[in-house]
Amino acid sequence: MEELLTKTAAEQRKALLNKEISAVELINEQYKRIEDVEEKLQAFNSLCKEQAIETAKEVDKKIAAGENLPPLAGIPLALKDNINLKGTKTTASSKILENFVSPYDATVSLKLKENLIPILGKVNLDEFAMGSSTENSAFKITKNPWDTNKVPGGSSGGSAASVAGYEATLALGSDTGGSIRLPASFCGIVGVKPTYGRVSRYGLIAFASSLDQIGPFARSVEDAALLLEAISGCDKHDSTSLDIPVAQFSKSLNKDIKGAKIGVIKELLQEGVSPDVKKAIESAIQKYKELGAEIVEISLPLLEHSIGVYYILATAEASSNLARYDGVKYGYRTPDAKNLLEMYTKTRAEGFGDEVKRRIMLGTYALSAGYYDAYYKKAQQIRRLIKEDFDKAFEKVDLLVSPTCPNTAFEIGSKISDPLSMYLTDIGTISANLAGIPGMSIPCGFDTDGMPIGLQLLAPALQEEKMLNLAYKFEQATDFHKKQPCI
Ligand code: GLN
Repeated sequence: MEELLTKTAAEQRKALLNKEISAVELINEQYKRIEDVEEKLQAFNSLCKEQAIETAKEVDKKIAAGENLPPLAGIPLALKDNINLKGTKTTASSKILENFVSPYDATVSLKLKENLIPILGKVNLDEFAMGSSTENSAFKITKNPWDTNKVPGGSSGGSAASVAGYEATLALGSDTGGSIRLPASFCGIVGVKPTYGRVSRYGLIAFASSLDQIGPFARSVEDAALLLEAISGCDKHDSTSLDIPVAQFSKSLNKDIKGAKIGVIKELLQEGVSPDVKKAIESAIQKYKELGAEIVEISLPLLEHSIGVYYILATAEASSNLARYDGVKYGYRTPDAKNLLEMYTKTRAEGFGDEVKRRIMLGTYALSAGYYDAYYKKAQQIRRLIKEDFDKAFEKVDLLVSPTCPNTAFEIGSKISDPLSMYLTDIGTISANLAGIPGMSIPCGFDTDGMPIGLQLLAPALQEEKMLNLAYKFEQATDFHKKQPCI
């Protein structure tokens, strides 16, 4: 039974359909596993057992009646705690929302329910998804299942750790500058950031609305493709969601990739990349050659500006999005204020953590009269040029590859007092959000300490099918995804 929890969704589905286990039993086993390891991993902010078991019961009824089941029905999933799920706490791992109960479902939550995917609970993140290590949570520090002294990456650290540590088979996270791909890389699993607009953001607590996307975590490319299919689609509640049909990502995984052109991003394999990561990426490139792909070196000269551009635009949007937490309508309110202004200022001073305050101040400054042109407008212009760099690259190649991160998971506490070095962790991932293109991370090796290394794949907008196909072929030809952490 324990072993079934380490399997992929596709394998667990087989066990359900063959009646080796019922959906309710699977969920109960999953909760037992959570009880066993949660003290070590600290991935969950809250559990929603009743809802999950109700969904599992429905799955069992359908199996008994011989009805058709959606592909991921009954497969246990962990939901990032910045995605609303009606009747459960949605905290964004912030004190300011500590007791906030969602009055409605995010569109992705509704889709999970329609697909009969049981939601186990809400998982930890950096407060308001601001961070790269999950150390910025107001509640707890999630640990990396491969080494509990190390971070799981962030901001969707709870999502990645729960899947890698077998507390869930699937998870959803959000990615504004790398928050799905980075933790997937640090925890040795698959994580996909879809094209901007592919998945509805309705009900996702906004960080930087022009960059945020929700996406899947899974143990295999096929599972990730199935989950992406389940959550994609146009939504009238999100004006930036794209009005295009949902592609059948899982149907085109096994296409031959002979002759595919893969570009290696030169700037992301230069100095600053750890020797172990470099070696793993180089052998991944070699593997693609063996699979028949043609490898080209691609230069993205503006990439070095992506961190600067991101930290102006993301903080500017955040400063505006977070203005709503003022102690009036919902969330935390300071217990002792003498007047209205003090109520606002004390509520925000007490409710937000240091990193969130740092971002609000940076963003407010970037948007202030007199500085707007110098910072915000300039950053928007460079964002455009970065996108054009990608457009040019994709005229030459089908896909770009790079390390997801220049290093593997680091020790808890080692970067927390140095925000700039923390920000640099995202050098490989941020530009995809600025350009709106899809990206993913897949396991491609281990460093000398046994920590996982991630290969990042980037594709042109709306070409997830091609990206997933190339990822699948690599996965089939390698064993990295089969190695298990001993947690
Ligand atoms: N690490 C980046 C940040 O701190 C990205 C976060 C994210 O993608 N949500 O902003």
